[in-house]
Amino acid sequence: MFKVLKARFRQKYRTGKFPESAPPNLPPHFCGVPEIHPGAEKPGLAEVCPTGAISVVPDLTLDLGRCIFCGKCAEHSPEAVRFTREYRMGTARRESLVLSGRPYAADAEFDAGIRKLYGHSLKIRQVSAGGCAACELDFNVLHTLAWDMGRFGIQAVASPRHADCILVTGPVSRNMLTALQKTFEAMPRPNLVIACGTCAVSGGLFAGSPEVNGALDGILPVDLYVPGCPPHPATLLEALLRFIGRKA
Ligand code: SF4
Ligand code: SF4
Repeated sequence: MFKVLKARFRQKYRTGKFPESAPPNLPPHFCGVPEIHPGAEKPGLAEVCPTGAISVVPDLTLDLGRCIFCGKCAEHSPEAVRFTREYRMGTARRESLVLSGRPYAADAEFDAGIRKLYGHSLKIRQVSAGGCAACELDFNVLHTLAWDMGRFGIQAVASPRHADCILVTGPVSRNMLTALQKTFEAMPRPNLVIACGTCAVSGGLFAGSPEVNGALDGILPVDLYVPGCPPHPATLLEALLRFIGRKA
């Protein structure tokens, strides 16, 4: 026992300071919400985007829900697209993710009913529906000592019967469709659905493939969209906290 206490004392408190001291410590190469400047694009901008997230007709728009943050558009037309360090991207409205010349505004507040029911406890069942494992890993990171999302009452659970919410990653492969629907059906009501990562939001790089179903909201009613490929843990945690009405 003495050894345990000694080790604990030596290691000190290891959980990060986010969200108490926002913004989080983001890596130098982090790409956040881009700024869009319609009219400043060079010819061929839409063609460089591997996911069709950029449209230049009638005006320049960038769909954050389809973006994999590869940065090719900013390299091609730096005057038209500039990635910022804004990590707050979670929203309840899919259409909010389509960026134009206006500044991006993530939902300030979600449904008050969600805050009332889940503000102190949110149990999440994660469903990997054909993801590459990066979204899943960054969700798992939130359980570690460094992020410790349990301190906000947010926990992953093993069974959908114990879950308030499913957090889906991946473009919903054909093989996972039935399992996903059964998981949803097994949850007690009311229940929530989170689309985590660009694949779940829109199909991402795999959209249009006959092997996937694409956007999750074509299958289940989505309450929270969190774009990113994968979303940074700070992006996901901040979105979850705002979703349940906790201040990030
Ligand atoms: S950063 Fe996003 S919008 Fe830009 S080219 Fe890559 S996928 Fe397309
Ligand atoms: S959004 Fe990106 S990181 Fe997440 S599952 Fe799809 S390809 Fe992988």
